Amino acid sequence: MTVLILMDESDASRQTLTLARKFGEPRSVRMDAAEPFAPDALAAALAQAADELSASAVLAAGTDRGNEVMARLAARTGLPLAANCIAATPGDPVEVTRLRWGGSLLEDARLRSPRPLITVAPHTVPIDSGPAPVEVVVKAPSASDLVVRVSDHVAPANGGVSLASAKVIVSGGRGVGSKEGFAIIEELAGLLGAAVGCSRAVTSAGWRPHTDQVGQTGTKVAPEVYIACGISGATQHMAGLKGAKRIVAINSDPQAPLMLNADYTVTGDLKEIVPAITAEIRKQR
Ligand SMILES: Cc1cc2nc3c(=O)[nH]c(=O)nc-3n(C[C@H](O)[C@H](O)[C@H](O)COP(=O)(O)OP(=O)(O)OC[C@H]3O[C@@H](n4cnc5c(N)ncnc54)[C@H](O)[C@@H]3O)c2cc1C
Repeated sequence: MTVLILMDESDASRQTLTLARKFGEPRSVRMDAAEPFAPDALAAALAQAADELSASAVLAAGTDRGNEVMARLAARTGLPLAANCIAATPGDPVEVTRLRWGGSLLEDARLRSPRPLITVAPHTVPIDSGPAPVEVVVKAPSASDLVVRVSDHVAPANGGVSLASAKVIVSGGRGVGSKEGFAIIEELAGLLGAAVGCSRAVTSAGWRPHTDQVGQTGTKVAPEVYIACGISGATQHMAGLKGAKRIVAINSDPQAPLMLNADYTVTGDLKEIVPAITAEIRKQR
């Protein structure tokens, strides 16, 4: 049996491959088969390749792009899609476990479908280290499948370190106090080669762009270290931190949920503590 997977070079794709192998011998359609990114063109390529190979299932990483392509594939084929799965067992029905409500709930579900469509939540499944699947050659897309496509790229305001792939993130919340207050967060992040993140209170106040927001309605992050400064730790913020390996919280309230969930805490005024950490790092270098 053959299983089809939408792939690029990311860890999320290699994690998806781990689950895909349970469904058969993997073959891949490359994410850059439609370059610049055009979700309908990729959905059309997957639909055609899945028919030609009689694929038992189609899988993609549960990234923004992976979910978008698979939703369009589901719409054009009428097949059901189970998004953001962390486990899947082939069979009739297929048993899946999905992340729901921003990761605060695990849902066990059964998927009855002649060809299950599944996306795999990033950072939840081990990376596959086996050989890369054989690539399927796809036809040139039709003009109608290129109506939605990327037309421009704008560099992020955070100096180019992407939140989703950052190893270290220095993140600020309402406790930072103002747009200008983020200067000390940026300075520490710059020293550590880190990305700057923030809570929704901050993006709602217009202090930082939405691209910096971490959480359920922002970016889900998986750094080695997440340094949260003046963030209370609402469930919607914590939903974005499930992949963080270590959390450092700086907060004046020792009972703030983020302080209770952190590996290391510093209780006090971030306006004194963050510059003190920055100064200490400079001294050590
Ligand atoms: C549908 C929905 C989706 C949402 N999605 C997201 C999301 O994706 N991401 C997100 O972040 N939120 C999200 N939220 C909002 C979330 O519920 C919280 O309102 C938000 O996370 C609070 O941001 P905050 O922690 O910065 O602010 P607050 O909750 O106001 O916390 C500020 C913290 O700063 C501390 N503090 C204050 N001054 C200082 C100081 N000088 N030094 C040190 N500490 C200080 C305080 O003790 C407090 O703990 C969502 C809400 C809803 C309803």
